[in-house]
Amino acid sequence: MIFGGSPAFAQPRHVGRPNIGDRDRFFELLGGALDRRWLSNGGPLVREFEARVAEIAGVRHSVATCNATAALELAIRAAGLHGEVIAPAFTFPATVHAIGWLGLTPVLCDVEPETGNIDPKQVRRRITPRTSGIIGVHLWGRPCAAEELTAIAEEHGLALILDAAQAFGARYRDRPVGGHGTAEVFSFHATKLLNTFEGGALVTNDGALAARARAMQNFGIVGEDEVALPGTNAKMSEAAAAMGLASLAGIDDLVARNRRRYEAYRERLAGIPGVELVAPARWSRPSYHYVLLRVHAERAGLTRDQLMALLRSENVIARRYFYPGCHRTVPYFTGDRRFPHTDRLAGSLLAVPTGAAVTVGDVDRIAGLIRLAVRHATAVAARLRHPAPATPDPVPPPPPVPAAQSPVPADEEATECHQPGGSHP
Ligand SMILES: *Cc1c(COP(=O)(O)O)cnc(C)c1O
Repeated sequence: MIFGGSPAFAQPRHVGRPNIGDRDRFFELLGGALDRRWLSNGGPLVREFEARVAEIAGVRHSVATCNATAALELAIRAAGLHGEVIAPAFTFPATVHAIGWLGLTPVLCDVEPETGNIDPKQVRRRITPRTSGIIGVHLWGRPCAAEELTAIAEEHGLALILDAAQAFGARYRDRPVGGHGTAEVFSFHATKLLNTFEGGALVTNDGALAARARAMQNFGIVGEDEVALPGTNAKMSEAAAAMGLASLAGIDDLVARNRRRYEAYRERLAGIPGVELVAPARWSRPSYHYVLLRVHAERAGLTRDQLMALLRSENVIARRYFYPGCHRTVPYFTGDRRFPHTDRLAGSLLAVPTGAAVTVGDVDRIAGLIRLAVRHATAVAARLRHPAPATPDPVPPPPPVPAAQSPVPADEEATECHQPGGSHP
């Protein structure tokens, strides 16, 4: 396409289109809620969904919420955090917003160079007398070093919350993600593996914490009309729970299919100089909901952004997760430069299309485009710098730093969600 002609894909291929569960079951469950005229406030569908989530996560308590950001805020409040909270710079901004929005001080730390997950050694360096908690993130649904973080939290008397927004259905060693720390938080946003349109859950083995979070999510009300705690409204609706219940049965199948796409990328990209598939840690079983490439520009002859521009011109909507890193966004920029690994990853990683709407055949073609781009890197780079006047460049220019300020390109608005600059991870 960069050299003329039509794009390789007539319809765009995205990083994450929503997984739609069993429609008939969804409408049946929704009909039940309408018949009962019980639409929110802990109706039977939300209660059943919570029980299923707790079972899958292997925990005692689950509180379903309107989204994961609210669940993170509930976890922070219910755990009584104050002062400073440590979180990784390389994450979706919601992790850090949850801290800042509540008036606490996010203290960002760098990540592990290989996995991109929060680095326990860096966490230790950021602990001060004002620190009250740590929020670890299972980035891309790949479990972070939860045991090491637990040890640090215990040693310093800190709470540990795990942002498992991307990790529902993933496994940490031989157990499901969900039971570490003070609480873990899942997202069921439209673009996540399991969706409830919008939704989330706080899961924990601490009954008292779960009870506080449950009261706080409903205006602090306990019993019929006693307000026992400051609260907010973070409840999940019955309609959302219906969507979740209608989709849960298919979750193992989704993981298996995602894994096949991941394996297909691995096979088809093998041997392309400078293009490396980011492998999950051997000890984990991720949900394979995201496929990440690392572009080594010197060897590939193309930068990550050049490869992305080329793919987009072919209707392959690859994305820079999580460029530029929270430490470089307007609300959290301090000038601190101690983020070399986040900077390197934010500058070289590319999330490529996968999920239910992408076939293994599509993966073949996408990998073929990447192979071709690297083989003809010099010509591709030259053409990207000086597009031929006869071929209008369909690629929107990359958003200026910070990405949080950039407008959503019009062609992505319809299918993608609320992450500034494009889709939600
Ligand atoms: C999606 C996501 C969130 C926010 O989830 P919502 O349900 O949209 O609020 C938070 N953290 C991470 C790491 C995410 O990927």
